[in-house]
Amino acid sequence: MNDYLSLLNPEQQLAVTNINGPVLILAGAGTGKTRTITSRIAHIIRNGHAYSDEILAVTFTNKAANEMVSRVLELTGTNIPWLGTFHAIAAKILRMHAEIVGLNPNFTIIGVDDQLQVIKNIINEINPDYLSEKYKTIMNIIQQWKEKCLLPSEVEDVQSFRPVYVTALKVYYQYQERLKFLNSVDFGDLLLYNIQLFNKKTEVLSYYQNKFKYVMVDEYQDTNAIQYLWLKYLAKEHSNICCVGDDDQSIYSWRGAEVENILKFSDDFKNAKTVKLECNYRSTSHIIATASYVINHNKTRLEKKLWTTNIEGEKVNLIKLWDGKAEARFISEQILKLNKYRFSDIAVLVRATFQTRVLEEYFIKYSIPYKIISGVKFYERQEVRDIIAYLRLVTNNNDDLAFERIVNRPKRSIGATTLKKIYTTAQDNKISFFEAAKILVNSDQVTERIKLSLNDFLNKIKAWEEIVSVKPLHEFVKIVANQSGYMEMLENEGVTGLARIENVKELISSLKNFDSTITFLEHISLVMEVDNMNSDDTVYVMTLHAAKGLEFPCVFLPGWEEGLFPHQRSFEDKSGKALEEERRLAYVGITRAKERLIISCADRREINNQWQPMSTSRFIKELPRENVEVIKNSAYC
Ligand code: ATP
Ligand code: MG
Repeated sequence: MNDYLSLLNPEQQLAVTNINGPVLILAGAGTGKTRTITSRIAHIIRNGHAYSDEILAVTFTNKAANEMVSRVLELTGTNIPWLGTFHAIAAKILRMHAEIVGLNPNFTIIGVDDQLQVIKNIINEINPDYLSEKYKTIMNIIQQWKEKCLLPSEVEDVQSFRPVYVTALKVYYQYQERLKFLNSVDFGDLLLYNIQLFNKKTEVLSYYQNKFKYVMVDEYQDTNAIQYLWLKYLAKEHSNICCVGDDDQSIYSWRGAEVENILKFSDDFKNAKTVKLECNYRSTSHIIATASYVINHNKTRLEKKLWTTNIEGEKVNLIKLWDGKAEARFISEQILKLNKYRFSDIAVLVRATFQTRVLEEYFIKYSIPYKIISGVKFYERQEVRDIIAYLRLVTNNNDDLAFERIVNRPKRSIGATTLKKIYTTAQDNKISFFEAAKILVNSDQVTERIKLSLNDFLNKIKAWEEIVSVKPLHEFVKIVANQSGYMEMLENEGVTGLARIENVKELISSLKNFDSTITFLEHISLVMEVDNMNSDDTVYVMTLHAAKGLEFPCVFLPGWEEGLFPHQRSFEDKSGKALEEERRLAYVGITRAKERLIISCADRREINNQWQPMSTSRFIKELPRENVEVIKNSAYC
């Protein structure tokens, strides 16, 4: 086993060996925050300060968690069972005590599309004329309340707010009840129920408070109110909490993150030590100088320095192109020229997901292998969710959301009218949709044709139940995808169906890694797409938000234009805060690069099928001249 301490500088060592009491590590990008946390866990275990299951460590993505787990495993030979994302750990705790908050331990964690479906059903009952565009707004408002740890009864008087808040609160009450009836929770509920659990049963809370002797948090700047509260509860007994973060990388305020949590830390945890790390090990000095210069334009910052002893490297490249297509062509040609790098050493980080379309077009043209880590998570894709819904309904007949989703997919002549009948029968008798459908099959309420079709569907589900436990999961799902007619439906869809067939196949092959349906369902409900980056040699295209914590030898940052980056929305906020967040995003983007950084902008761009003139981003004007080389290339202009 290599000696972890010798791989650290004196400040990092200090942060690793000072394990008692609260510690705040406040440091710039690439200064080894994540490495420090990992080494700290190893230090605690190797010196016998705690057992591996007495350490709670929270990170932002499953990918980061997996990397940390395997690094600690290398250093100590042990696994850390309580290292994961807030959601994964909260889900684990909730499963153990689900009954206390009125849930069954095998509850389902639902995704966005299911959330919207429930909201739609509720609104249809309250006011069928309600505008469907507002469903998402309502979902987001509910989510925001949850991020602030507010139950429906705790939401303050909304009468003076915009009318949509009044509707949202009405929906929130019913939404929570409905999900409970379905034995389901959404992402926000995981922490909300944890807090409820801790408040209701103080003995459960004390159990965890005693159990977790050491608590550690990475990417602390992006915690929101409820996450902070959850941490405070859990770390109370020992106060051995170590948070690492960088206020300059706080980029999730739109998801309720509160950078003020960094400032609150010393108030809530008395005598907190603050450690600063200033030496960046990741990037060349031109890149670091550029990042520091840009972020210096922000007014609200904590005092922090960032320097590096790394080589100067090449200057940051800047190029202005004729239009979005020329930009994509330029990036493609550069990638092919950068042949000292593998494709997977290269990342293109975009501000908005629409930017990926034209890039994709040119990568195909130039035969560049690429992977888009898009906003839509793999497991949120319609076809993937549909197949999963079959699996859910087979494992749990009471899963009404799954039933509703697939009863007519592929088409089985079960339209809105029949669904309504199923819905009312279920409500009247307080039974599941599945049971209600059985009643309808034996009644005169629907036509013979529908009876036959419904009956066939119910029989299939029952027949699959017989084989689910005897077949390997991937084989089972393959059978279901075929026998249900789902694959045939996709085959008849033509070109669009092809990509979707590929997705179903990918799902089936990913199932090989799971031995039980339950572990798989838990996995899919918690992973994010960035977690699925694998070892293929492909260029990665992703949003700046998704790139947090990652590093690549070579990074392209396209689309630096006013309205795109900084984003249009940030202009609406007159306080200037939103603009500062955009600048932090620029800082995150720049600091992902180890050796090469290429920033670009275009004079015109196709947005929503319309060509628009674009003007150069103010962030480009904020770049330091001495570290940047402007490329003039008439081929692209
Ligand atoms: P970010 O702010 O982007 O999350 P970070 O502060 O978490 O960055 P790490 O990802 O831990 O930084 O480290 C950045 C890079 O520097 C990694 O490649 C890491 O292996 C390396 N590194 C960290 N500390 C040292 C050190 N003391 N000596 C050499 N390399 C180091
Ligand atoms: Mg990190």
